[in-house]
Amino acid sequence: MGNKRVSRLRKVLQDLGLDAMLITSGYNRRYLSGFTGSSGVVLVTGDDSYLLTDFRYMTQASEQVHGLKVVQHDTKFIDTVRGLLPQGGQVRVGFEQDDVSFSAYTAYAEALQPAALVPLSKTVENLRMFKDEEELAVMQRAADLADATFSHILKVIKPGMTERDVDLEMEFYMRTHGATSSSFDTIVASGERSAMPHGVASSKVIGNNEFVTFDFGALLDGYCSDLTRTIAIGAPDPKLKEIYDVVLEAQLHALSHIKPGMTGRECDALARDIITRYGYGEYFGHSTGHGLGMEVHEWPRLSKLADEVLQPGMVVTVEPGIYLSGLGGVRIEDDIVITESGIRLLTHSSKDYTVL
Ligand code: ZN
Ligand code: ZN
Repeated sequence: MGNKRVSRLRKVLQDLGLDAMLITSGYNRRYLSGFTGSSGVVLVTGDDSYLLTDFRYMTQASEQVHGLKVVQHDTKFIDTVRGLLPQGGQVRVGFEQDDVSFSAYTAYAEALQPAALVPLSKTVENLRMFKDEEELAVMQRAADLADATFSHILKVIKPGMTERDVDLEMEFYMRTHGATSSSFDTIVASGERSAMPHGVASSKVIGNNEFVTFDFGALLDGYCSDLTRTIAIGAPDPKLKEIYDVVLEAQLHALSHIKPGMTGRECDALARDIITRYGYGEYFGHSTGHGLGMEVHEWPRLSKLADEVLQPGMVVTVEPGIYLSGLGGVRIEDDIVITESGIRLLTHSSKDYTVL
């Protein structure tokens, strides 16, 4: 596993004319090495690859890491890196500029002299956009657990519970069914709060005749799911049912037209144009979707500004919404994999208008 991913990275480094790359970010370290510990770095050179960690993690690392050499580093890992770099000539070493502080950069540059440090951005993240079969299998299980959690909460939720009660019940369900945790702070937004796209569960009591939006996911074996559904309790304002139908039409239209070769911008427009046509464009203030994987927000993005082209193996969300301040809101979100011919849904919870 580690080997194949490292080989793909090495090819990128060769194309960039680099002799090595130092990977310091936690997600990228885990992606390349399989090591789940919280301290360590990966070094990839032209001929070799290493996971460097300290003595606390040596046993764990030797069990988890395949295809990279596990090295116990000195007090300062950068001193050990120096000894592993190719010798002679001016060596060019890439580093993750979005992960390294200025003081760390200064220390690395000094310790690695005369090697030249070359700032890189999204290098491993670009590889992570393409999920392999093993990753897709884990993501399917994370999505299945989100679906099961939604079915469960529909049986439990009733007026009089607080949003936090509901959040806790969902968290408990996910963790007792295999999740490490939720993949982000669960959103349970009821009544007027459903007009807040990021209304994290509060102490508000869920009332009758309200919409409730659930946006949540499970972190399972290192991968996230991300599911949103909106339901009605009792008999809410009919205007809310009207926007529900618009959001659902926009979401289904996007799902049935997204295919490889389209840009993120084109995908975003599929949903946005429908919402705009019904006169709610200004009430859809976020992008249509985002990449999903080890992190809940990855590349590519499905937004008005996104130039990335969707390709088979990418996993993204599709989540249009409409938010009417003072009344309520609707968002519907699924996770999909881009395939050779179109898409495959990972999440399957019903989107029929549900009234409890
Ligand atoms: Zn979400
Ligand atoms: Zn999302």
